[in-house]
Amino acid sequence: MQDTRNPTRTPLFRLLTIGAAGVGSFIIGLWGLRMGMGAHLAVLPAEVIGAVIAALCALAAAGSSLSFFAGVDESAGYVFRETQVDKLTGLLGRAAMIGKIAEAAVATSRTGQPVFMIDIDIDRFKHINDAIGYTQGDELIKSISLRLRENLPQGVEIGRIGAGEFAVLLPDSKTDEPIDRLVERLIETLMKPYQLSTHLQSVNLSVGIVAMPKDGTDPVLLLRRSNLALQHARAAGIGNWAVFQPHMGQVADHRQWVESELHTAFLRGDFELHYQPQHDLMTGKIVGYEALIRWRHPERGMIPPMEFVPIAEETGMIAPIGEWVLRRACSDARAIPDDCYVAVNISTVQFMTKEFLQLVRNVIKESGIAPRRLELEVTETAMMQDKERAAAILKELSAMGISVAVDDFGTGYSNLSYLIDFPFQKLKIDKSFVARMEQDASSGAVVSTIVGLSRALGVHTIAEGVENETQATLLKAAGCDVVQGFYFGRPQPLMFAQPEQPKRVANYH
Ligand code: C2E
Ligand code: MG
Ligand code: MG
Repeated sequence: MQDTRNPTRTPLFRLLTIGAAGVGSFIIGLWGLRMGMGAHLAVLPAEVIGAVIAALCALAAAGSSLSFFAGVDESAGYVFRETQVDKLTGLLGRAAMIGKIAEAAVATSRTGQPVFMIDIDIDRFKHINDAIGYTQGDELIKSISLRLRENLPQGVEIGRIGAGEFAVLLPDSKTDEPIDRLVERLIETLMKPYQLSTHLQSVNLSVGIVAMPKDGTDPVLLLRRSNLALQHARAAGIGNWAVFQPHMGQVADHRQWVESELHTAFLRGDFELHYQPQHDLMTGKIVGYEALIRWRHPERGMIPPMEFVPIAEETGMIAPIGEWVLRRACSDARAIPDDCYVAVNISTVQFMTKEFLQLVRNVIKESGIAPRRLELEVTETAMMQDKERAAAILKELSAMGISVAVDDFGTGYSNLSYLIDFPFQKLKIDKSFVARMEQDASSGAVVSTIVGLSRALGVHTIAEGVENETQATLLKAAGCDVVQGFYFGRPQPLMFAQPEQPKRVANYH
C-alpha cells in the first residue's frame, strides 16, 4: 500500500511541537507556582524543591504526550481523508467502500437482515469526459453525487468506486420503499439533465444490484457480481437496472472473450458488410442500401453486431472498425446504381469524436462518390449527449450534402424539441412499432404521428423491420415514404443484395 504521510507533520515539526509543549508546560507550571507562593518559594527546603521539580517534569511530560497524541490524531484524520475519501465528491473512495461492504457483510451474516449493494454507472463516461473536457466532467460528477446524496435515506453509505461509478450500501431496514421502486425513482431522478457552467448535460445510467447475504459476503465478489448485473442492465438498453443472477457469469465470460478477440479479428479481416435494400413505397424501386456489419469468426462463425458493437464502443475499438465500415461502404457504393445511396450506421462514440467530420470528408474524396449517395444513420442518444456539438456536426454534414437519418426513432428521448434545432433529412421509425402495428392500435397511431411530425418538419420517413405485406400496406396508408425489412430483402453480401424487379405494395382498402 502507498505510504501516505501528513505533509504538515514532518518528523522535525513533530519533535518541535512535542518539545515546545513539554517546555511550555514546565514554564507555565513554574510560573503558576511563583504566582501562588511568591517570596515563600525561595525558603523552601531542598526535598520540597525536588518534589516540585519532579511535579513540573511530570506536567511537562503530560503536555508533550498530549501534543504527541493530538499529532497522531490529526495525521490519522489526514491519512483517512487522503486514502479513504474521494476528494472530488467527498464520498467514500473505493477502498473505504470495500471496507464498509465487509462490515455490512459481517452484520448481515449475524442478523440475517438483507443489505443491498447498488452499483450505479454512467454509460460511456470516458467519452463524455473526453468530449466536454475534464473540468466539466468533474462538475458533472459532483452534481451527480450531490443528487445521489439528496435522494437516498439518511445514513446510507455512498462511495465513488470508479471514474463514473458509484456504489450505495442500503440496509433493507433503512427504507420503506421496495428496492425496485427506489432504484427506478433514483434512475429517473439521476438521469434528468445537469446544468453545468457551460451547457446542459444529459447522462444515461445503468444499475446493478446484489443482496447480501444471498449473493455472497465477500466484498470483492459482491462488487464483481453487482458489476455483472450492471453490464446486463446496460445491454438491455438505456436507464435499466438488473438484479444479479448466477447465469450472468457465463454472459460475462463471453463478453470478455469478445473484448479480447476484437482487435485480432480486425487485423485478421474478419469483418464484412451486408446490405439490406430500402424500397420507395410509391414506386417500389430500391432507393438505397443499409450497410450492416457482420463478424465472421473463423471458429465461432457469425457473431451478430449487437454482441460486439457495444463492446467495441466501450473499448474504443469502434474507432478503427467504424472507419473501416465507412470506407468500405463508400467504396462499395461505386458498385450499386448511381441513383441509390448507402446508409451507414454511425456509433454514438464515433459521431462525437473531433476527427469524425474530417474522416467523412476524406472518405468521400477517396471514394469519389457524390456526397448525396452517402446517408448516415445516427441515433437520438448520439445527438442528445451534447446537443450543441451534435447540431454543429449535423449542420456541417448537411452543408456537405450528406443526408442524416435518425435511427431507431421513438425509442430514445420523449422530448422532441431537439428535432427543430437539428438539421437532418429522415426519421427512421423503429422496428418495434412496425412489429406491433397489426395487433396494437397505439403502435399504428405512433407511426402515423411520426409521419405527420416528419411532414411538418419537411423530412422523410423510413420504416425498418417490415416483415410482411400487411405491415407494408399499413405503412403506405400511413404515408411512410421508404421501407426496409425481411419482406423486401434480408441483409446480404453486396452481390446478392440487388434484386432485378421492383417490389410493389398494394394500396390499403
Ligand atoms: P439498426 O441500424 O437499427 O439495423 C436494423 C437491424 O434490424 C439489423 O440488425 C437488421 O438486420 C435488422 N432487420 C432488418 N430487417 C428486419 C426485419 O424485417 N425484422 C427484424 N426483426 N429485424 C430486421 P443487425 O444487422 O443485427 O444490426 C443490429 C444493430 O447493430 C443495428 O441496428 C445497428 O445499430 C448496429 N450495427 C449494425 N451494423 C453496424 C455498423 O456498421 N456500425 C455500427 N456502429 N453499428 C452497426
Ligand atoms: Mg440502422
Ligand atoms: Mg434501427
